Amino acid sequence: MPFKQLGLSEEVVRGVQAAGYVEPTPIQLRGIPLILAGKDLIGAAQTGTGKTAAFALPILTLLKTHGKCRCLVLEPTRELAAQVETAFHEYGRFTNMKTAVIFGGVGYGNQKQELQRGVDIVVATPGRLLDLLGQGSLHLRDVNMLVLDEVDRMLDMGFLPDVRRIVNLCPKQRQTLLFSATVPPEIGQLAAWVLRNPEKIEIGASRSPAETVTHACYPVATSQKFQLLAALLQRTNFDSVLIFSRTKHGADKIATRLRAERHSVAALHSNRTQRERVEALDGFKSGKYEVMVATDIAARGLDVEGVTHVINYDVPQHPEDYVHRIGRTGRAQKVGDAFTLVTIEELEYLRAIERFIGQTIPQLKLENFDYVLTPLFEGKQISGDRRSVRAVRTMKGYSFSPSRKRR
Ligand code: AMP
Repeated sequence: MPFKQLGLSEEVVRGVQAAGYVEPTPIQLRGIPLILAGKDLIGAAQTGTGKTAAFALPILTLLKTHGKCRCLVLEPTRELAAQVETAFHEYGRFTNMKTAVIFGGVGYGNQKQELQRGVDIVVATPGRLLDLLGQGSLHLRDVNMLVLDEVDRMLDMGFLPDVRRIVNLCPKQRQTLLFSATVPPEIGQLAAWVLRNPEKIEIGASRSPAETVTHACYPVATSQKFQLLAALLQRTNFDSVLIFSRTKHGADKIATRLRAERHSVAALHSNRTQRERVEALDGFKSGKYEVMVATDIAARGLDVEGVTHVINYDVPQHPEDYVHRIGRTGRAQKVGDAFTLVTIEELEYLRAIERFIGQTIPQLKLENFDYVLTPLFEGKQISGDRRSVRAVRTMKGYSFSPSRKRR
């Protein structure tokens, strides 16, 4: 079904066509008519499914009068807020809707000026929005469409109390859309409070990685993790690779070591200044950096065209993060590869991921890599310490798939 038949305004359909979309994705097909019908919605969808357009297109169609903030979209991170605002801007290019983005880490001046000029749609992170509301630069009395996006990430980041405060400042008479990959009890409670008779849509079972991603893991000793990463990069034919690190410090360390190996590398995490984050992301998008090392929070939901490979330097500790991380590649039907380095200490996390996604992740061994023997390989152990012996037992019956061909 073409976009035209979904009930979107003519200007919005033109905007979508100009963006180069031919057909709606499943979440757009199901979500757009519900939102246009005025329903509250709870959406569980993988990133990369076209979730942003699923809410932005009907919102741009529904907003009628101008000059007052009638739509508020809350996002957990600055990067996501900027990305979503850009999407509104792009899809709405043939409308005269004004959008503004608000996030912390930068001066207040420009954001205040933008608000003073009058905006229809505000995309914001909770902290800075509360600041500006407290300073009287903005009020939410005219909001009739509220979007809470990536709510599970907001929960992780401790934003839910701020979100509640913000919701309390919006009129009760409104349409609310809530998106969250998972719905743990805290989010269930928030949804029950914030939504009225919501329709639920779940797309592409949020537990399964995108079908366009081939994924595998590489068991390795902790002492050889970096070496294996470097070897993988050397032997992989990649255009752009996103590497995830569990910690900010780890991300910096990996970036520094990769630079020493003559890779062009950007690092993205929340200890970096806003200017540095923008520079890293823009440089990665433009191809100036072939590698970006990021933490989960910074990279959640980011849409970077043409990421050919994702490497998890550490196994994600929350299974749903695995799906999100490897969702950075293989977006919008492009094929991508995702590799996860796994040490014996991380095995339990790997198992949890496999249970969560309902699949065994194939285990590979890099050909001609000088592995120190680890208990992860063929049941051998490097040292006689008790942990390794225990590990051998844990690994019993764990078979390894044949080695992957060198690329
Ligand atoms: P999202 O899940 O909103 O982050 O979107 C993921 C990617 O899919 C973005 O690059 C969008 O530009 C792209 N996209 C969204 N909807 C469509 C569509 N109907 N056809 C093609 N690409 C799309």
